[in-house]
Amino acid sequence: MAISQKTGNDAFSQSGHQTAAGDISALSPTGRIDLASLHRKGIFIIDGHTTETIPVAEMLARSGFTNIHTHNQEKDGEQTVVIKRLQNRQHRTDLILLDITRDRKAGLALCDAISAQRRLRDIPLIIIASKGRWQEDAIYAAFRAGATDIVFTPVQRLELVPRVISALLLKTERELRQHHELELESELAERKVIEARLQYLVSHDELTGLCNRRRLEQALEAAVYRSRNIRQSSALLYIDLDQFKVINDTEGHAVGDRFLMSIANQLRQVVAAKDILARISSDEYAILLEDTCRKEALETAETLRRIIDEFRFTANERKYHIGASIGVALIDPRDEITASEALARAAQACFEAKSQGRNTVHLFSHDDRESHLIRSAVDWVPRIRDAIAHDRLRLYFQPVIDVASGKVHGHEALIRMIDDDGRLILPNNFIPVAERMGLIHDIDLWVINHAIDILHQLPADYDHLTLNINLSMYAFQDPQLPALIRDKLETTGVAAGRITFEITETAATASYVQTRDMIHKLRELGCRFALDDFGSGFSSFNYIKQFPVDYLKIDGSFIRNLVYDAVDQRLVKSMIEVARTLNKQVVAEFVENEEILELLRRYGIHLAQGNHIGLPAPSMRLDLP
Ligand code: C2E
Ligand code: MG
Ligand code: MG
Repeated sequence: MAISQKTGNDAFSQSGHQTAAGDISALSPTGRIDLASLHRKGIFIIDGHTTETIPVAEMLARSGFTNIHTHNQEKDGEQTVVIKRLQNRQHRTDLILLDITRDRKAGLALCDAISAQRRLRDIPLIIIASKGRWQEDAIYAAFRAGATDIVFTPVQRLELVPRVISALLLKTERELRQHHELELESELAERKVIEARLQYLVSHDELTGLCNRRRLEQALEAAVYRSRNIRQSSALLYIDLDQFKVINDTEGHAVGDRFLMSIANQLRQVVAAKDILARISSDEYAILLEDTCRKEALETAETLRRIIDEFRFTANERKYHIGASIGVALIDPRDEITASEALARAAQACFEAKSQGRNTVHLFSHDDRESHLIRSAVDWVPRIRDAIAHDRLRLYFQPVIDVASGKVHGHEALIRMIDDDGRLILPNNFIPVAERMGLIHDIDLWVINHAIDILHQLPADYDHLTLNINLSMYAFQDPQLPALIRDKLETTGVAAGRITFEITETAATASYVQTRDMIHKLRELGCRFALDDFGSGFSSFNYIKQFPVDYLKIDGSFIRNLVYDAVDQRLVKSMIEVARTLNKQVVAEFVENEEILELLRRYGIHLAQGNHIGLPAPSMRLDLP
């Protein structure tokens, strides 16, 4: 029996599962009572020996309680000593029993004093009082003084023990709740940190701290939008350093890095805070000048050219003179261009500047030699229409494997178009045009129809394979879609669970509410969802959390250089972490070699797809070589 009666020498054994909110081990996660840890709870008995033949401490010890401390006020000291002992942090008190039979007034005053202490307020306190004429008064007085329960003499063990247990359980339950609240708070805080870290990494160049290409592309989209809708012009400057390769090759990478940082600092001096300055490849920078005109843009480009021309870079006592070729493209409300066209134009103008003898500025013009490279969407529309009408669309299938087992999990259906002359055309050439020119919905419906037919026609041993179908954002605006898919599944008998629809992160967030509702409807049918190109249009967790998708498919741009790129490694690991907290499976695309696959396996990724695993092919496969 571990009953301690000495004041300064408590024998409280610290056991059980301690958390910031207390000891919660007396309740299992399912709510069952753990008797052993309940018996180890700290019970503090004040004057429990006074009236009874068997002291209260002994009664409880007989019932299995092992962590009991007693305090005799006459011997050990009164109110202040009691409180001091209770506040001693080394000894955990889970329940106080206060016998007030000897001196009711002093006992109630002590009860009052204990519950006035902030740190003791949460400990349940049971008063032991004498039975008598004033019994009912005693009840009210006890509760007013802060007691949580009252027991009358003569104390019966069979009455006392259940009271003690329920008081201890009540406290444990409260602590459990506090513990969950704390856990939730820290999980939220952790998520915020990951989110902020991801957001920074996703939009910045690690070496120079400038924006990266992704961020620039986003800003360009916004500039194009402003040009179309509020008729505001912007300009894009594309800067290529003429000397970088020489410095990098002769002085080594460390000096090369220092050089790039110094150039970034030179550029920073000229660029206004509202403009976007980005490093878009090893020695190429771009600047998006917002709300500007042709004259101003050319002046800024000229200033930049001069600053770089006058800058001298010193390494190992050698001085380098650097030149820059700068291409300028205007985003003008008068000629409607897309963000990628603006980037292509600026790059092309930069190429012109270089071929005119470097260290110059060139403004994009349609008359430039290379301009025929920019295909007009107008050419594509009749070709796409023709392909739909004459059944010249095809589905190819790329295998997706379960990384742990190496087995084929399913396939992604990827569309191709057969051109007039029989050539296979990849979707990047026609899907963006189809989206812009209102033809994409027909394509989406064609794909859904054919993909389900193909699943239906597969031999029985393909029954477990799943198929991923890409949908454009326009598909989600068609209210007929769920009924259409349901009918198709019913007539073919294909199980809905075999189909995973892929929607890109950008499309999903563009028309958020509609997309989310449609996902709900299609998931009710039993279909699954994947968020494609995850990370590319980095949206906040809040968005992703609310998209009821089953899979996050990490954008290939994070995967293809994974083995060499430390930033990508950190990002991919964080994304897997995010997926784990959101309870979603993770897929990696663009697995181009065994090293990437091995690294992903180590990160614990679930599914993988890529040219190393299997190229898109006209038919599905059960096994891989
Ligand atoms: P996505 O949905 O992200 O598809 C993955 C793309 O990455 C496919 O290109 C695939 O062939 C390619 N890929 C996979 N692994 C590797 C790899 O290891 N290396 C490289 N370099 N590429 C790899 P694809 O077939 O050209 O499709 C491009 C995009 O076109 C798709 O991106 C998707 O957004 C769109 N798309 C494809 N099929 C359809 C369709 O049926 N409907 C709609 N609406 N869009 C489609
Ligand atoms: Mg896809
Ligand atoms: Mg993708």
